[in-house]
Amino acid sequence: MSPLALRRLIIVAGLSLALAFGAVRAAQPEREYHETFYIFGTLVEIVIYGEEDDTARAAAAEAGQLLQTLHRDWHAWRPGRLGDLNAAIAAGHGLTVDTRLAALLREGRRLSCLSGGRFEPAIGALIGLWGVHADTPPEGALPDPQRITDLRTKAPRMTDLRFDGETVTSVNPAVQLDLGGFAKGAALALAGSVLEARGIRNAVLNAGGDVNVIGRHGARPWRVAIRDPFVWGAVGAVSLEPGEVLYTSGNYERFFEHEGARYAHIIDPRSGWPVRKIVSVSVLARDATLADAAATALSVAGPGDWPQVAAAMGVTAVLVIDGEGALYATPQMRARLETVSESLAETLREVPLPQISAAPDCERF
Ligand code: ADP
Ligand code: MG
Repeated sequence: MSPLALRRLIIVAGLSLALAFGAVRAAQPEREYHETFYIFGTLVEIVIYGEEDDTARAAAAEAGQLLQTLHRDWHAWRPGRLGDLNAAIAAGHGLTVDTRLAALLREGRRLSCLSGGRFEPAIGALIGLWGVHADTPPEGALPDPQRITDLRTKAPRMTDLRFDGETVTSVNPAVQLDLGGFAKGAALALAGSVLEARGIRNAVLNAGGDVNVIGRHGARPWRVAIRDPFVWGAVGAVSLEPGEVLYTSGNYERFFEHEGARYAHIIDPRSGWPVRKIVSVSVLARDATLADAAATALSVAGPGDWPQVAAAMGVTAVLVIDGEGALYATPQMRARLETVSESLAETLREVPLPQISAAPDCERF
């Protein structure tokens, strides 16, 4: 463990996990309704604040149903619409999908383009080869390097997709879609809309630390912790304004271990190998699909490139934690991050984002 990480262990020891997630309670707690679902390989918790139980229960049930449907429709590895589309692409023809999936794929193509191919949901075959898509971590030997090279050289990209209305085709049969890098964000956004349509004014949707909020928790904002990738605890917390989201891509939860080395569940599409240098990226934004995709893209971008990729994707508030335990934050994130200790705040380095002069034209397809 690096000295920084060790120091953090000492700091966090004794810190209660009250920070882990949740609202800071108001002086006179109002009614809170909780519902939990197991979706997208994680527990999704919906908390509704300040509504009658019946209203909250009905709204949460409808949001939960939608999440179950999206989980089925957008799952690359179980029978469903996305699986059918992957089979069609591999066979060299197209398939007509529903409006929601078509919209998500178009957005995925745009975000992949903006990230310079670092966020690349078309690399499903590589993800399958590494086995990181499964709900339980893979075990055993590493994939055959030749197969990794083969899949990488076929260079499947979201920009290979073509749309004719809701009919999707690919000019590259190696495209296999795995939406795990941004499906959670898109799904929580849709589920949040269901709650709002049901008249819910204050709620939080939390998928294992990826969080969307509606309104506030009484007089205060919803406060959400960012987990420490090295020890059981938090590096800090952010108070989310109504409509804000906080998404974290962490390589500490899902990985597989082989001969003492850890292999992350995020794959660098350019090498075909899991990312190594960055262990956690958090993005604070207003668009959950963007925040989720950007957190994945910046993990791939690595220590040198993440500021430029963040700027290209249009996210401004970012926290990056590297394998040594060092913290880097953009000024916008630093202004919002309440670190768990002064000494941790002192180790945090501020990284301004570059100006993007010529953004790639990602609307052109
Ligand atoms: P988490 O699952 O912790 O929220 P991410 O949002 O980063 O983390 O999603 C990781 C998932 O994204 C992987 O399990 C895989 O399905 C998919 N994935 C892996 N590498 C990439 C990549 N380079 N681009 C897009 N999706 C990826
Ligand atoms: Mg993501």
